Amino acid sequence: MTTKTTTIGILGAGQLARMLALSGIPLGLRFVTLDPAPDACASVVSTHIVGDYGDREKLERFAGMVDVVTYEFENVPAESVSYLSERLPVYPSPKALAISRDRFTEKSLFVELGIPTPKFLAVGSLDGLKLAVSEIGLPAVLKTRTLGYDGKGQSVIKSDGDVDSAWALAGGAPCILEAFVPFAREISVVAVRGRDGEARFYPIGENTHSGGILRHTICRLGDPMQSVAEGLASRLLEHFDYVGVLALELFDVDGDLMANEMAPRVHNTGHWSIEGALASQFENHVRAVAGLPLGGTEAVCHSAMVNFIGAMPAAAEVLRVDGAHLHDYGKAARAGRKLGHATVCGEGEEAVTVGLGRLLRLL
Ligand code: AMP
Repeated sequence: MTTKTTTIGILGAGQLARMLALSGIPLGLRFVTLDPAPDACASVVSTHIVGDYGDREKLERFAGMVDVVTYEFENVPAESVSYLSERLPVYPSPKALAISRDRFTEKSLFVELGIPTPKFLAVGSLDGLKLAVSEIGLPAVLKTRTLGYDGKGQSVIKSDGDVDSAWALAGGAPCILEAFVPFAREISVVAVRGRDGEARFYPIGENTHSGGILRHTICRLGDPMQSVAEGLASRLLEHFDYVGVLALELFDVDGDLMANEMAPRVHNTGHWSIEGALASQFENHVRAVAGLPLGGTEAVCHSAMVNFIGAMPAAAEVLRVDGAHLHDYGKAARAGRKLGHATVCGEGEEAVTVGLGRLLRLL
């Protein structure tokens, strides 16, 4: 019996698209990517269409070559998504994409679903910001509603004297003001849901950021917050009748979880799963999108992941670390750019902590 090959179209051809294709090719899946950059790093593992996401002609070509569409980032133009979703299945649902693109609609949904989140208010003017500060109190964080990621477009307001400069930094863009959370740690739960509604969850990742960018994640086996985090992510999966991988970032405030944001896609805090889980988040995303059975999300070892940002260490230095796996995305170096990562695996927490320390010293 011959079965037709499924071709997955990915909007965006960065490292997430590259790792999706790398995990799906062995399953017999094919990939087409659309991205404005001719040298985008997924172009070496996919049929790559160079074009703007809003370019109708390119979208038509893309749509004609694929069976199903997914995306690697949230800021795909809404019109392009609706154009594609009129012609093809788009997973995760365009509704999840639209909600997560705007921090205000995202946090409003958390409230609607009973998912705890820091107190927040929409802000559209300097006067509005002053009013919000008086309601929420200080310290607080001002964030642009859209196009903010990796800490971009946000500032902490510690005193009334910071209000004017924070508003100026936002450049007049619609914002939200949210209460500053004195968290003990940042964690994330990566979930996957198949077309048949089956949901699975990876072990929690404990995340360390600096300057708003993820620096490293430690996969926490048997974390006391695991089932609470899964319960919160489940509400989102059910709400959207979700298909694919979803990540939920949470603040752990001494055993109380508060949602910071959701990502309707594979997520940097789940990269450890390539070597650290039975089936990686990338493989499970393409399995879900292609309508295939999900793979195991259980950890096969202890693991931790380190991001390489702005510069790559020498490959030999990384590979000298016991249990380290290197992922060089093949991107040109630029300050603040994620160029690669390494995951260190080991039989126990201690071996991983030692390996993680060695990798961190390479930065
Ligand atoms: P975000 O772009 O919302 O993911 O924020 C980037 C990072 O800023 C988070 O990972 C936190 O380290 C920090 N952050 C964001 N929102 C808050 C908050 N309300 N309270 C304290 N820290 C925050």
